[in-house]
Order: sequence, then C-alpha cells, then structure tokens
Amino acid sequence: MVECDISSTCPFFNDRLENMPTTATLLKQQYCQGDFEHCARFRVETKLGSTSVPGSLFPEDAAVADRIVAGT
Ligand code: SF4
Repeated sequence: MVECDISSTCPFFNDRLENMPTTATLLKQQYCQGDFEHCARFRVETKLGSTSVPGSLFPEDAAVADRIVAGT
C-alpha cells in the first residue's frame, strides 16, 4: 500500500478538521492510502505550503484546488 507522504501531519488524515465528511474513511482509502498525488489537499500543500490549505478542503475537491494553485 502506498501512503501519502504528508499523512502524519495532515489534519484530514488525523481527523482534526471541524467538519469531517461522513465519507472520510472511504476518502482516506482512495486518496491517503492510494492516489494521494490527486488529492486536493496534497496538491495545494506541496505547491503552496500547509498554511495555504483551507480547513474546508477535502481530497476530492479538485476544482477548488485548481483555483487555489492557479491563484484565482
Ligand atoms: S492524501 Fe490528502 S488528505 Fe490524505 S493525507 Fe495526503 S494530503 Fe492529507
């Protein structure tokens, strides 16, 4: 199993976000323990740093990540 490089510090992975989705377990399996390079949070953090990742951003929010990374 491939695990995300930043899972040890990721608030989503460690259930520290205020509004964790009911699908969190599935999202962790899909992204955190698999396709982490396509996770919205991973993409923003690796591009802009952890302080640029909104607390409301979840792994499947690809379009939001695109906008943040593009600076729009
Ligand atoms: S895949 Fe995304 S949500 Fe999961 S640990 Fe990595 S950055 Fe966090």
